[in-house]
Amino acid sequence: MARSPQPINAFPVFMRVAGRAVVIVGEGDEALAKARLMGETSAALKVIAQRPSAELAAWAAGAGVDILPLPYEPFLIEGAALAFAATGNEDLDRRISDDARRLGVPVNAVDRPECCDFFTPALVNRAPVVVAVGTEGAAPVLAQMIRARIDRMLSPALGPLAILAASLRAAVENLLPKGAVRRAFWSEFFAGAPARAMEVGHADEARAAAAELLARRGVYGGHVSLVGAGPGAEDLITLRAQRLLLQADVIVHDALVPDAVVALGRRDAERIAVGKRKGCHSKTQSEINDLLVSLARDGRKVVRLKSGDPLVFGRAGEEMQALRDAGVSYEIVPGVTAALAAAADFELPLTLRGVSSSLVFTTGHDLKGEALPDWARLAISGATVAVYMGRSVAADVAARLVAAGLSPDTAVAVVENASLPGRRLLHGTLADLPSLAGRDDLGGPVTTIIGDAVAGADFRRSAPLASGARPLPEPARRLEGAGA
Ligand code: SAH
Repeated sequence: MARSPQPINAFPVFMRVAGRAVVIVGEGDEALAKARLMGETSAALKVIAQRPSAELAAWAAGAGVDILPLPYEPFLIEGAALAFAATGNEDLDRRISDDARRLGVPVNAVDRPECCDFFTPALVNRAPVVVAVGTEGAAPVLAQMIRARIDRMLSPALGPLAILAASLRAAVENLLPKGAVRRAFWSEFFAGAPARAMEVGHADEARAAAAELLARRGVYGGHVSLVGAGPGAEDLITLRAQRLLLQADVIVHDALVPDAVVALGRRDAERIAVGKRKGCHSKTQSEINDLLVSLARDGRKVVRLKSGDPLVFGRAGEEMQALRDAGVSYEIVPGVTAALAAAADFELPLTLRGVSSSLVFTTGHDLKGEALPDWARLAISGATVAVYMGRSVAADVAARLVAAGLSPDTAVAVVENASLPGRRLLHGTLADLPSLAGRDDLGGPVTTIIGDAVAGADFRRSAPLASGARPLPEPARRLEGAGA
C-alpha cells in the first residue's frame, strides 16, 4: 500500500456529535456552507447571526435550525462539541478561535488554517457509512474531485444496507464461525442479493435475501448481470454498470464493446471475448449461454457486457431464458442504445412535435418476405425509424419503403461509430440509402435513421451519403406504384 513520506498533521477521526451543540458564528455564504455541512448530522446546530443573509435564513428555516440574532460573545460557544468561526471578518474570526481554544472547544475558522484545530472534510455521505476526504486545507478543490470519484463508486443504497448489516451482526456471530465463512457471508451480503434488493428500495426483500444467505452457511451461487455498455464512449456507461464491473470476477463481452470500457473492470477480473462481429471467430449463442451458466454455477460474479442496451438486438432474451432454466440469478442493467447515441451525435430529434411522435427500432432484416412488416407501415405514417445492423440490407430497406409509399426524398442520417472519436456522420435521402451497402470505407458499426424528423438534424458536420441521387434498385421499380 502506498504511503506518503509526509506525516499526517490533521488526523481523521469520527467524532460523536449526535445531540451535542455545534455552533456556527457568521451571517453569509461561509456560514451557510458550514451550516449545510453540519446540517447533515444529528448535532444540535446553532447559528449565531445578527443579520443573516436571505439564503442563510431560508436554509435555516427549511432545515429547522435556530438562528440566534445575537452579537458574538464567548459564552455562546461554551461547552459546544465544535465551533465554526465563519464571519468573514478576520479579527472577529481570530477572536472566536482564541476564545474557543481557551474554553477547550475545537474550532474551525474558515480560510484561516492557523486558527483551526480541525479541518472539515469533503464527505461522501451514505450514513452510517461515511467517507471523509481531507487535504489539511491544502487543496479543497482536489478533495472535492476525489469525493466525486468515490461517490460514483458507492451505491446510493449503501446506508440502509449498512443499517441492515448492523441489525444482523448478532445473528451472524451466533450462526457462522469466525473467519473465512463469516467473511464470505458479508462479501455476499454487500455485493449479492441483499445489496441488489436494497438498491431498488426493497428493504424487506433484502432482509429475506440475507436470511437465505445465512442459511447457506458460506456456500453461495454466482450471479450474472446483463449489462449495457453503451454505444462505445466509456463515459456513456451507467454508474451501476461501472460498479458492477468493479465487483465482477469475470467479464464476458462482445467484440463491439471497446477495450476502454472492458478496462473499467478490476485488473484481476477474467475477461472473455465472445466475438459476435461479422467475420470474426466467435462463440455461438448457445455456447455463450452455456458459458454464462457454468461460470455462475462456479459461484462467480459475472458481468455479461453488451454494447448499447442489452435488451435491444442483444439476444438477451436467449441468455435470460438459459439463466432462468438453470436457476441462476441474474439482473439487467440498461445502457444507452446505438440509436440514441447516433441521434445525439447528429443533434437529431427522434420525435418532433407535429412531425413524428413514434420511434421504431428495427434491423430491416425482416423486409425480405412478401408481407410488409408493421414497422414499414409505421414509417409511412410518420414514425422515425432507426435501423440497426442495416448496412447490407440498406438497398432493400430503401426499395421496400419507397415501393410502399414513403417519399424517396425522406431524410436519412447515417452514423458510424456513434459516440466514439472516429465517428462519421452522413446525410442524404431514402434515394441515396442503397449506396450504403457499397461503402467499404465504413468499417465500424453503423446506425441509420430514417424519417421526416431527421430533417431537423444539424447537417453542418455531416457529409453527403451519395453524390447525386442514385437509381432505385430493381424491386423498388418493379413495385413502384403498388402503393401503401
Ligand atoms: N444492443 C446494441 C445493438 C447491438 S446490434 C444497442 O443497443 O446499441 C449491433 C448494431 O448496433 C450495429 O450493427 C449497429 O447498427 C449498432 N451500433 C452499435 N454500436 C454502434 C455505434 N457506436 N455507432 C453506430 N451504430 C452502432
